Amino acid sequence: MSLKRRWSLLSELLRVDRQMSPLPCPGCGVEDRQRIWRQDRYFLRVDLSICRQCGLVHLARGLSGQAEERFYEHVYPRLMSLTSANLGSFRLMAGYRLQAIRDVIGMPERVLEVGAGMGFFLDACRAHGVREFFGLEPGAPQHSYLSGTLGLAGQVAHAPLTADSRFPFVPRLAVMFHVLEHLADPGAALRQLANALDPQGWLVIEVPDILADWRSLGLWQVHVSHRSYFSAASLSALLQRSGFTPWYISREAHGIYPGNLRVFARPTAGQTAPAVIEPAPVPLPGVADSIRAQIRPWSLRNGYPRAAVRLLRCAARG
Ligand SMILES: [Zn+2]
Repeated sequence: MSLKRRWSLLSELLRVDRQMSPLPCPGCGVEDRQRIWRQDRYFLRVDLSICRQCGLVHLARGLSGQAEERFYEHVYPRLMSLTSANLGSFRLMAGYRLQAIRDVIGMPERVLEVGAGMGFFLDACRAHGVREFFGLEPGAPQHSYLSGTLGLAGQVAHAPLTADSRFPFVPRLAVMFHVLEHLADPGAALRQLANALDPQGWLVIEVPDILADWRSLGLWQVHVSHRSYFSAASLSALLQRSGFTPWYISREAHGIYPGNLRVFARPTAGQTAPAVIEPAPVPLPGVADSIRAQIRPWSLRNGYPRAAVRLLRCAARG
């Protein structure tokens, strides 16, 4: 490997920093916010902020358009190295998720997964006898894995969710695991799924819970690819503005992620008597203080010193 290629990750990140620009709140499109934290774990100036309009914690600076596409194609895979240990834990998570969903809605049918990742959840559905399932996955390494190793090429399109996305059936269950927080316009994705789903169907979303105890992550919680940092309250509000009624919310302190939020929702048009959980709104200063207290920037375990070492290791790997 050439020396130039070996250290090119650092110049790529400098380029990313220059390409970043102010972006509106992904929840409401407004730019009225209070900054909580300036730099992410890659030392990029992301301006983690809280929206004074809708309460969503989000990055006020980020990438868009071709710069964002280039980032996900060339930089993101180098920052997120996959090992066989990762793959094994992804498979275990998939079985655990399927069981958690079965506990609430029974055995799913006609399953759509947006952001299928390595394909383990759809593989688990197939292993449990689900006959109709379909996925979308825009990432090339992920799609290559699910096609080659899991044999899911025919059931997973190599594409993101767009206004033109079509599915081979009317889904009864749509799932998005740790995807919504990456999207520039999560409300648009939710509205599209509300229209696509069977009126009696279900949506199950998992995201990191910004109001959980995530001190073990520290600075790792903040990174350029996560545009939104949801809580039960801000995600429920977004769902309600986007055609869904939140039905059941579960929080897991540990397991899939330090502070995992799983929300079950149903298309609003198909419901008459929602058993809604309406989380109490949390005051904005309380949210900002909680986040600042958990980042601990100078921690040797998960602060900037460790972030610098990890970045240099990633760069040296090429
Ligand atoms: Zn907002």
